[in-house]
Amino acid sequence: MIDPNVRVRFAPSPTGPLHIGGVRTALYNYLFAKKHGGKLILRVEDTDQTRFVPGAESYIIESLAWCGIEFDESITVGGPHAPYRQSERKDLYQQYCIQLIDSGHAYYAFDTPEELEELRKNAEKIKKTFTYNTESRKNLYNSLTLSEEEVKRLINSNVPYVVRFLIPENTEIAMDDIIRGRVVVKSETLDDKVLFKSDGMPTYHLANIVDDHLMEISHVIRGEEWLPSLPLHILLYQAFGWNLPQFAHLPLLLKPDGNGKLSKRDGDRLGFPVFPLQWFDSKCGEISSGYRESGYFPDAFVNMLALLGWNPGTEQEIFSIDELVQAFSLERVGKAGSKFDPEKTKWFNHQYLIKKTDQELAVEYQPFLKEKGVEVNIKLLKKIIGLVKERVNFVKELWEETYFFFHSPEAYDEVVIKKRWKPDSPEQMTSLAEMLKSVDDFSTENIDVAISVWLEKNQFGMGAIMNALRLLLVGASKGPHLTDIMAIIGKEETLHRIHKGVQTIK
Ligand code: GLU
Repeated sequence: MIDPNVRVRFAPSPTGPLHIGGVRTALYNYLFAKKHGGKLILRVEDTDQTRFVPGAESYIIESLAWCGIEFDESITVGGPHAPYRQSERKDLYQQYCIQLIDSGHAYYAFDTPEELEELRKNAEKIKKTFTYNTESRKNLYNSLTLSEEEVKRLINSNVPYVVRFLIPENTEIAMDDIIRGRVVVKSETLDDKVLFKSDGMPTYHLANIVDDHLMEISHVIRGEEWLPSLPLHILLYQAFGWNLPQFAHLPLLLKPDGNGKLSKRDGDRLGFPVFPLQWFDSKCGEISSGYRESGYFPDAFVNMLALLGWNPGTEQEIFSIDELVQAFSLERVGKAGSKFDPEKTKWFNHQYLIKKTDQELAVEYQPFLKEKGVEVNIKLLKKIIGLVKERVNFVKELWEETYFFFHSPEAYDEVVIKKRWKPDSPEQMTSLAEMLKSVDDFSTENIDVAISVWLEKNQFGMGAIMNALRLLLVGASKGPHLTDIMAIIGKEETLHRIHKGVQTIK
């Protein structure tokens, strides 16, 4: 259903490379916006300066662009609610914070980090956890317990403070989530979260709610890890007197064995990337692999991600981005976490690879060949690729399946020699070469006919001859139909490889 009031956002914090779970969140927002003819906004949430990582913001932008996820409003394209980077909207949050203090929904707290740490430690000693909540706040150093004059005095003498949200006492907070339905929590279970920090920056909670409101966000679609923040967010909307957006919390991406959340560390440990692009961590010098650099096609990657948590309700697995837009709905996103399946991910890439034309693949393969010092015309390359593409998942794997088209074997597989090279092989192969010399039009069909006539005449077994011949032409027991290889490398090269092999293999 077209609804131009649909406005959704992807709101990453530039604290490191974007995990594939984050890419999926961005993708679902994109699909939802497109499906409803709405707008997608990219907002950078960089108010936590202690977690800022240089390069992370541009990494996020490049990753999403590689996936084909385009934004209608963002830090790069601008828009009616610019700026879209929260650090540039700093002054705005302060006024909303004051509004909450004035209306009695928030308060100043002067407890020092050391004092709070002490309270935490003492609670731990008696196996409890300290939280700044509806009970404990009554005995702490804040504007609820101090006199008005004292509060003024502290503020005027620049004593550092934070602003905390005043969680109401004895209240039930009901939350409606498109994926999870209704959830109710008691206010006693919540703590008085900091809204504004002593460094003059808002926390995530305040900035996020203020911006979602000002940017007229209609649906908040984000990862399940933000579900615990939802009660506070709802209370914040109510405190401001603003309408709630709709919420949808997406299920976690799980490790392949289903045991826990797929983490940054799982990727290279288990042999697959968890990041869209390669990431270089300048702090520890570590490189984490990326889908792009590993040879994945962006559309295959996006197709795979779309199905991790959402299902179309049919058996269909291959979807173009337009088909995804048509089929997508939040109602078909499951509650349970989705196991990441690295093998299935390769399968997707294979499906996209075989759908490409030989011409497209040839163009993508040529740079690899250049690196190997191989020059080959595109017409021939297309033919070669057509013969082997079913066998590979990635363009880079084409080399293992095609190198023998470009040069004669430098070595012969010992295991294959033992199995396939018989005492009479040298004589048979020499005789075969002699016969092939007389095949004028060296096409697959002509070679096939000539060989079967020759086999018939000499009463040789087809299997034994072809296996020995493959060893001489390829150096191993692999490759596509042998006479296809012969037609492509040509008569001269075929005869050269037979003679060379017969002389080399002892
Ligand atoms: N900045 C938060 C993050 O890094 C955004 C969470 C949200 O979408 O509300 O994921």
